[in-house]
Amino acid sequence: MTQPCAPALPETFRALRMLRDDAGVRPEIQTLPLSALPPGDTLVRVAYSSLNYKDGLAVAGRPGVLKTYPMTPGIDLAGEVLSCETGAYAPGDRVVLTGWGVGERSDGGYAELARVRADWLVPLPSGAAPEWAMGVGTAGFTAMLAVMALEDHGVTPAGGEVLVTGAAGGVGSAAVALLAAAGFTVVASTGRPQEETYLRALGAARLIGREELPALTRPLEREQWAGVVDTVGGDTLRGALAGTRAHGAVAACGLAGGSALGGTVFPFILRGVTLAGIDSVTCPVPRRRAAWARLARDLDAEKLRDVVQVRPLGDLPALAEQILAGQVRGRTVIDVT
Ligand code: NDP
Repeated sequence: MTQPCAPALPETFRALRMLRDDAGVRPEIQTLPLSALPPGDTLVRVAYSSLNYKDGLAVAGRPGVLKTYPMTPGIDLAGEVLSCETGAYAPGDRVVLTGWGVGERSDGGYAELARVRADWLVPLPSGAAPEWAMGVGTAGFTAMLAVMALEDHGVTPAGGEVLVTGAAGGVGSAAVALLAAAGFTVVASTGRPQEETYLRALGAARLIGREELPALTRPLEREQWAGVVDTVGGDTLRGALAGTRAHGAVAACGLAGGSALGGTVFPFILRGVTLAGIDSVTCPVPRRRAAWARLARDLDAEKLRDVVQVRPLGDLPALAEQILAGQVRGRTVIDVT
């Protein structure tokens, strides 16, 4: 019986590199030798990456995300294994990687090749394509973790409405779709009322304005939400906590509107509200695999169709500015080939 041949390795690869010199930080598309890849036991031919808020910060040259320069950003990638020294994967296996500091501390997905650790990878669920995986990406994965956290804390569709803040963004859009798929009545908080048709198509039952939650300034407000997926933070999170029903839960995912955590402890000590933190970067492997399996079930390619735009590597500098300005709807998949 003949063994499948390992595919021939390319000699060079294209990557969007962030460079830092006296003039500042800037992106540049470069062709690099394989020796430029970081250490790692597994070589992946990247088919698609994606654009997250954090990637926007990195490509726009904002401090804090990239730990060294030069660096290839892109916190997500999906593609095919070319070689794996650990034996965990065979050449041709389709994989997805999100988090673990890839695209922050080591080179990420905005390149045709990535060298990573096998234990950072998740095999793509059967039948799932790399483009789908990047339509999901860190944003969809984070939304899935948030929904699982609400469920872990006893939030059920029978408990009443659930709220998603920053609903038209990447995490928010996925959270709306996933909660609707799980049978919840979803209220979408957005600063973009023009996205009503889009949000309703995803499964939102009704919309509220972005300004409504920061306006909830009393320690305890009318009990409205059985659960909340919050991607905004700051005064929005404070208002969401104050309006959460007794024994409800709030999954804190993001800081699109600020990193402060104001308010009082009354939602916790008088209503038993749980504040659950979501960290997609270091999420343990079993939870990761469970989340991806459920994403394949509940957020299939058809559901993602209206959420995703696919753009080439060269568009990233402009896209970075747009996501930082809150102008990107849903998910942006980056075709790196
Ligand atoms: P997006 O930019 O796609 O979405 C953020 C959304 O937040 C926007 O679309 C907008 O929604 C809303 N928003 C933006 N600015 C403000 C503001 N000043 N005040 C109130 N609302 C605002 O980003 P992502 O969905 O990719 O990420 C969302 C957040 O989650 C980010 O802070 C990101 O860093 C974080 N994150 C955390 C992860 C984790 O592991 N915990 C993983 C991934 C992301 P709308 O237009 O509907 O109002």
